[in-house]
Amino acid sequence: MPKLGCSLLCVIWQLLRQKGVFFMVINKLLTTVNYKKSSSRKIKYIVVHYVGATGGAEANCKFFRSVYRGRSAHYFVGHQGEIWQSVEDKDIAWHCGSSEKINNTNSIGVEMCCKKKDGKWYFEEETVTATIELVKRLMVEYGISKENVVRHYDVTGKVCPEPYVRDVSAWNKFKERINMSKADNTPNQYAKESVNWAINNGILKGDENGNYRLHSAITRQDVLVFLHRALSIKK
Ligand SMILES: [Zn+2]
Repeated sequence: MPKLGCSLLCVIWQLLRQKGVFFMVINKLLTTVNYKKSSSRKIKYIVVHYVGATGGAEANCKFFRSVYRGRSAHYFVGHQGEIWQSVEDKDIAWHCGSSEKINNTNSIGVEMCCKKKDGKWYFEEETVTATIELVKRLMVEYGISKENVVRHYDVTGKVCPEPYVRDVSAWNKFKERINMSKADNTPNQYAKESVNWAINNGILKGDENGNYRLHSAITRQDVLVFLHRALSIKK
């Protein structure tokens, strides 16, 4: 059941999610100072972080909003799976430094909100699931393979995200859940917008391996399933 202390909207959100309805809503509260503008960067990596404090996603966006912090990230995924964006994808956030291979300029930074119990950091399952959905969407959008989804730790050796550095099997499970083949999940240019729309509205869902099979043939029953899902979208 939904946890107490949640707004009404948040309760509805959780109930829908328990019923398997997943709408990816990306809230935006863009920072005005903690980023570098870019118009030409090539996004090749997704770097996963943990916040390292107990604040939620919106609170983090507010923290980075207008005061110079010297660091930032593109997305924050909150304790109930809510997603807040702080830096536009096309712009550069300051989250993993400037190493040659993986750096701020060629990556997107995703921060997972975390909690602490008995002195140990952990993620709510809602946070993990929503991060996976977000990462998969970004993989499709930018043609990023599973191998190029990394921990901050893999870039600089920093213990981040701590729960996934302490327990590498948890990170491996995360990687299993974003297991999509690049060929199957990279749309052609003309279809990109439609594919993102279909994924975000739950019309196109991954198969058991998480693949959207964008280049596979379609059967008559597939057409009907897509039609049914599209016409069932609540306005
Ligand atoms: Zn980090």
